[in-house]
Amino acid sequence: MELYELNLWMLTEGLKAGKFSASEVFTSCKNRIDKCEGNIHALITRTDNEMPAFSKDGTLAGIPTIIKDNLCTKGLRTTAASKILGDWRPPYDATAWARLKDSGAVLMGKANMDEFAMGNTCGNSAFGPTHNPNDITRVPGGSSGGSAAAVSAGYVPFSLGSDTGGSIRQPASYCGVYGFKPTYGMVSRYGLISYGSSLDQIGPFARTIRDLQIVMSVISGHDKMDSSSFRNKPHDFTHNENASIKGKRIAVVKEFAGFTLDAPIADAMKRTLKILEDEGAIITEVSLPVVSKYAVACYYALAMSEAHTNLERYDGVRLGYTVKDARGIKEMFERVRSEGFGAEVKARIIAGTCLTEPTRCEEYYVAATKVRTLIAQEFSRAFGETDYILQPVTPSMPGKIGESDDDAMKGYEADLYTLPVNLAGLPGLSFFTGYAGNLPVGLQLIGARWSDSEILDAGMILERHFGSPKISDGGVN
Ligand code: GLN
Repeated sequence: MELYELNLWMLTEGLKAGKFSASEVFTSCKNRIDKCEGNIHALITRTDNEMPAFSKDGTLAGIPTIIKDNLCTKGLRTTAASKILGDWRPPYDATAWARLKDSGAVLMGKANMDEFAMGNTCGNSAFGPTHNPNDITRVPGGSSGGSAAAVSAGYVPFSLGSDTGGSIRQPASYCGVYGFKPTYGMVSRYGLISYGSSLDQIGPFARTIRDLQIVMSVISGHDKMDSSSFRNKPHDFTHNENASIKGKRIAVVKEFAGFTLDAPIADAMKRTLKILEDEGAIITEVSLPVVSKYAVACYYALAMSEAHTNLERYDGVRLGYTVKDARGIKEMFERVRSEGFGAEVKARIIAGTCLTEPTRCEEYYVAATKVRTLIAQEFSRAFGETDYILQPVTPSMPGKIGESDDDAMKGYEADLYTLPVNLAGLPGLSFFTGYAGNLPVGLQLIGARWSDSEILDAGMILERHFGSPKISDGGVN
């Protein structure tokens, strides 16, 4: 077995026991990246030229990682996969990355994504698409497609992504890894380039649940630089081999029953429910009528409104792409923003401008905030009746690259199962259930706010049954 094939917890144990060295791990991962990257294109920037110095006594000492390119890295180009950020080098580190670095992690690169995290295919990148390492003709999902593909192809044992409406969970499921979207406020958003600030949350990808727990224990917890970060005592993500789901209630959503799913996903739902029942869980049903009917419209109204405000700062004056020969400030703003943003981002800025424009604001933006409250209340009620909700991550298996590019609405609707979780600030786990042919099939477990460690415990029980995903061939074997 090559070192790049080892999971995070195996690497930390092996390094501690002196079975191999950090530089051997680094070289093995680097060689793996060299081998696959031409096919996968998971990275915007590589930083694995040579082994950097790292903190020797932290939890992640010597562990290679990759982070999404919307997380600020001090002095290192951070693009959010846009042209408009140009060669911007942030003057500070995102807290989540700073915590990884302080605990010894070694950065191998910045991952490709949909521009400003808008999309679910990784095809909206100004740097070209990432390919699914299980089948390079297919999308890896998005927007954190590069981070998911990198873990699936064995570049690194874990990576970070961000999830505004599914961007960790959906690519995790498409690439065949675990992806965890924590409760809103669990991980500091400081230094995460904002898309929809009330929805954005950073989280990890890994090939085992135990690895997710290790990363969560490092990145979670209060940060005075983010006023929305959780102030209570740190959450406990200790791995518990004896966790049980006996007597816990697991619900499916009544209204989703009539919605069409690709056969492998429907089949995975059945098999997972059976496993949970055999483990002693009580299978039940909850009703989420507002979620099932209005969540997609509500999410896109809010996400686009917030995006339009957040992206106002890219004006060619302070940072990034600019034009030097404009006649006057108006022409400069116009040209910077028309030349600097990609088509999907521009469409959303325009939509967000319309949705919040004074004569329409009540009818759209304000109405969407009210629907969001109803959705949060609906989930609160549901979590009085159940401990977890089991549902798909997506209605369909990953499509071919370029296939759905002209049908934005279809893409938005495909987020139905992921984005309600962000609207209500809940934690959600995308877990692996096996393969249909060469493509992995993932499902999602959701819990009440702050039930993050319980969800990961339940995920571990499922991992025992389904097995951990294997490293994909990366289009080379
Ligand atoms: N696909 C959704 C969107 O485009 C979610 C993206 C995300 O979670 N960043 O908004």
